Amino acid sequence: MGFRVLELEMPPDFSRGQLEKGVASRLKGMACPFIIEKQSLDARKKSSIHWKIRVIARSPALSGPEPEQEPEPEIPRSGSGIRAVVAGSGPAGIFAALALAESGARVTLIERGEPVEKRTLSIDRFEGGGAFPETGNYPFGEGGAGTFSDGKLTSRTKSIGTEKLWFFSRMIAAGAPPEIGWLTHPHVGSDNLVRITRSLRDRLLSLGGEILFNTRLTDLDVTEGRVTAAVTADGKIDGTHFFVASGHSATDTLKMLMSKGVPYRVKSTAIGFRAEHRQEIINKAQWGVPAIPGIKGAEYRLTAAGDVYTFCMCPGGRVVPSSAFPGLNIVNGMSLYARGGPFANAAVVAAVNPSELFGQALSPEQALDWLESLERGFYEYAGGYGAPSCSIASLLGRKGSLPAETSYPFPLVPADFAEIFPRPLLARITTGLAEFDRRLSGYAGGTLMGLESKTSSPVQVERDDKGASGYPNLYVIGEGSGRSGGIVSSAADGIKTVLRVLQDR
Ligand SMILES: Cc1cc2nc3c(=O)[nH]c(=O)nc-3n(C[C@H](O)[C@H](O)[C@H](O)COP(=O)(O)OP(=O)(O)OC[C@H]3O[C@@H](n4cnc5c(N)ncnc54)[C@H](O)[C@@H]3O)c2cc1C
Repeated sequence: MGFRVLELEMPPDFSRGQLEKGVASRLKGMACPFIIEKQSLDARKKSSIHWKIRVIARSPALSGPEPEQEPEPEIPRSGSGIRAVVAGSGPAGIFAALALAESGARVTLIERGEPVEKRTLSIDRFEGGGAFPETGNYPFGEGGAGTFSDGKLTSRTKSIGTEKLWFFSRMIAAGAPPEIGWLTHPHVGSDNLVRITRSLRDRLLSLGGEILFNTRLTDLDVTEGRVTAAVTADGKIDGTHFFVASGHSATDTLKMLMSKGVPYRVKSTAIGFRAEHRQEIINKAQWGVPAIPGIKGAEYRLTAAGDVYTFCMCPGGRVVPSSAFPGLNIVNGMSLYARGGPFANAAVVAAVNPSELFGQALSPEQALDWLESLERGFYEYAGGYGAPSCSIASLLGRKGSLPAETSYPFPLVPADFAEIFPRPLLARITTGLAEFDRRLSGYAGGTLMGLESKTSSPVQVERDDKGASGYPNLYVIGEGSGRSGGIVSSAADGIKTVLRVLQDR
């Protein structure tokens, strides 16, 4: 069998048939099977926006060697004898649990929130005016914070190549669109993620794993320097290895770990606001036209001096109230697979090290408390879950007002951010916004909502050379470790940590 790698350019709304013709014409009329290896949108010239596609064609009539591909990590079958307890079913927890179960370990996954079907209903009731749902909200519940997200599956971390392949193959097997395997900016959308979460649950159960919902890790039993049991309100769960994958919204759990002597340090994070625009404004700025058939909404990623940048852009998405606890105001963004909504949103944040902001070393607990006090301040300012908001134009000293329509499910509350947000950071963000407006035409026509405070954790756990923290059989994985950020890198952190444990056996 021979192979040939081909680079093609295709129009925005190309069909499979057109691609087949394109491949055949590059092979002098020979039709042969091929796979897409990579696909990215080239929008550098507004007059010629097109897809760049790399395919690998294979046929006995071709003479080239098979292109090298990174192998998926093998999960060693060395897990028998491990009795693992995993707390948290977000990307880090579920992928760690799956890797453990595939290795032959006995796994109990405990999740403080509800199964994903109930969680969807809880969120709908809340957004319809019901009480805050503590066990089924945007961060908490089966699937973790990644479930009701845009499902962007990008990661800039270079050191997770093989774990990433394992993650992508399991996601596709669980029902994710196959194109996530080749798009440079893959995303799955919340609608797919709910289905995928159920499917990953079924996979874990089929491997013999056990899942306990509405079960919160409240403490750890420690005997002779090792963790011996996970403590929950319903009793203790004994084990040999303990994985805490709580995410960084679970500040109660992080503080419990700190109180047990698990070493954490304060690190830089980034805080700010969610900017919302009409998607059409972004499309026109990026493409020169309001829409292009075959391409979902346009994206943007902007940076400015003073460590100000945009983050987690959701074309055609919604801004959502994403606090894990009542009485706090936190916003984030999500979208469906179609990304077909009329609004675009993205975080606009400034990097900050809490200790540097205060001019004195804060303890990890103080850093968490500081962030929570800001989130509470936004809630109190709004008098509820309405989002304190301000037009970008008025922050830039121009005429501006809040829009009549927004994707946010609660009212936008006109706010003077200087009253509730650290002023040095607000000044940096304002300068950054002016820069963004110069670079992206119409950017000042957007609205800022707050508070965006969960871009990354302000604290980071220390790990020993075997990946353990505080105790030789305790592993803090995913975003709650402060060592990953986003769905892919959190899942990869869970997989990588499990592989390390298995390799040492
Ligand atoms: C609205 C929104 C949109 C996002 N969009 C994207 C995106 O498009 N792309 C991207 O890469 N990232 C996105 N993120 C970030 C991403 O979701 C997180 O980085 C990722 O989910 C972190 O994974 P994790 O497993 O470490 O933690 P989490 O996903 O936070 O999961 C933690 C889980 O642990 C459970 N838990 C917490 N404490 C306990 C306890 N004591 N006992 C038992 N269970 C516990 C929680 O209920 C939760 O299910 C988004 C986040 C939000 C909130």
